[in-house]
Amino acid sequence: MNQDTISPRSAQWREELRRSITAKQRGEIARVAMPELPADFRVTTLSEEVNMGLSSEQAVLEARRCLDCPDPQCVTGCPVGINIPGFIKNIERQNFTDALAVLKETSALPAVCGRVCPQEKQCESKCIYNKMKKPAVAIGYLERFAADNADAPVPAKAPRLGIKVAVAGSGPAGLSFAGDMIKRGFDVTVFEALHEIGGVLKYGIPEFRLPNSVVEKEIDALRDLGVEFHKNTIIGKTLSYDDLIAEGFKAIFVASGAGLPRFMGIPGENYINVVSSNEYLTRVNLMHAGSDEYATPVHRGKRVAVIGGGNTAMDSCRTARRMGADKVMVVYRRSEAEMPARIEEVKHAREEGVEFLTLHNPVEYLADERGHVRAMRLQRMELGEPDASGRRSPVPVEGAIEEVEVDMVIVSVGVSPNPLIPSAIPDLETTRRGTVAVNDETLRSSIPTIYAGGDIVRGGATVILAMGDGRKAAAAMAKALLD
Ligand code: FAD
Ligand code: SF4
Repeated sequence: MNQDTISPRSAQWREELRRSITAKQRGEIARVAMPELPADFRVTTLSEEVNMGLSSEQAVLEARRCLDCPDPQCVTGCPVGINIPGFIKNIERQNFTDALAVLKETSALPAVCGRVCPQEKQCESKCIYNKMKKPAVAIGYLERFAADNADAPVPAKAPRLGIKVAVAGSGPAGLSFAGDMIKRGFDVTVFEALHEIGGVLKYGIPEFRLPNSVVEKEIDALRDLGVEFHKNTIIGKTLSYDDLIAEGFKAIFVASGAGLPRFMGIPGENYINVVSSNEYLTRVNLMHAGSDEYATPVHRGKRVAVIGGGNTAMDSCRTARRMGADKVMVVYRRSEAEMPARIEEVKHAREEGVEFLTLHNPVEYLADERGHVRAMRLQRMELGEPDASGRRSPVPVEGAIEEVEVDMVIVSVGVSPNPLIPSAIPDLETTRRGTVAVNDETLRSSIPTIYAGGDIVRGGATVILAMGDGRKAAAAMAKALLD
């Protein structure tokens, strides 16, 4: 970090604040609104990012809202403990490069997390403004601003140790692991099954929410540091664990994610045009099915139902609108308050004309004589007692069944861990849920040379948790290999 950066808890910093603006004045500044593309335009484009980013003036003003809490709780809300006041104060002082440097101390992917983290449940949920019944400081918007508007200082190249480590999977867990290990002097090779690097950041989350160029920038930075990427290589098939050891890799980080779609097991799920969100989004995002220049087949439904209430469901319904659907319905068995999706995605979906059939659950799909889905039968639900997740559980309302016409159903009810690597390495212990079993502290598996993190350990979780796992595993593996 730049020498003249003031520590966010130092007396000098407090003095500077006192001189500049009082807490009362800060509390009176309204939370910044993110500039957005208009909804009627954005449904015509798959590639234009909806959120346009803050201007410098907006970012500095928003940073001024930070009340300089002596014990900042926002930090405790961030799963990786980013020094939030530190980066925000640097934005306030217009030291954008220093703001990014503070972020990069903890997060490998601030441009990504600033866009996709569920801030309202994490850092922003702990902001002191919530207690004052005022909107939290826009930490996510500011994080994105710093990452987009400053160049990260290039880390000095560490002396090479001549020790090779491999990574299976190039999502956020694999990328953050690779970054930390290369900076420590290890030779890092990332093997990716698909023909693109980035995992869900590329094949799952659409461009209109997270542009590929943002992800590419992070991947290029890793390449510049010396990380090698091998695409189209499936660990457990193209190369076995024994092959990797024979090639001289001393340890492996398994970051193969949870890309196995779940279905509900209800009648009619095998009808034509009932697909998983995983398949649908991969065809559109990774295989460009929305572009005339590609021959990737995809059904362009006109009356589309998306089943589920998470981020994947929101990405699917908004993609379906952009793919020409006139009517898109999100069918979710609880109420909107229980929806796991980011609030901003629900807001954007609604602005884009998506309808929400909350407290409904599909029980059957019906097909025409050609086997194409033509309708869904929905059970009306009501909310009962809280279940294991802490959310009120959905209970069927007896006899309340409706039939709704559809010509496409996108099932988005969760994912399971990718089973390929666990099944290819019989000694690798797994849990009942099929996730790789690891030591909580080190992320080391039952095989001492194999570590694992991200969704393959947690099941479907979040980008920031996957990234945090990558960093944790890198620290533990480096220690074990160097001890
Ligand atoms: P992944 O990102 O899944 O990457 C795993 C990679 O491993 C993949 O590229 C896969 O091809 C590769 N792989 C699998 N098997 C092998 C093998 N045998 N050999 C080599 N490579 C292999 N989280 C958020 O925080 N915010 C959001 O807004 C959000 N939106 C989401 C939207 C969608 C559509 C989806 C699907 C998920 C979303 N998530 C979101 C969840 C988040 O993306 C994941 O939790 C995160 O990507 C997990 O990271 P990972 O590195 O563990 O796995
Ligand atoms: Fe908030 Fe996510 Fe950034 Fe942490 S990484 S400060 S949770 S936006």
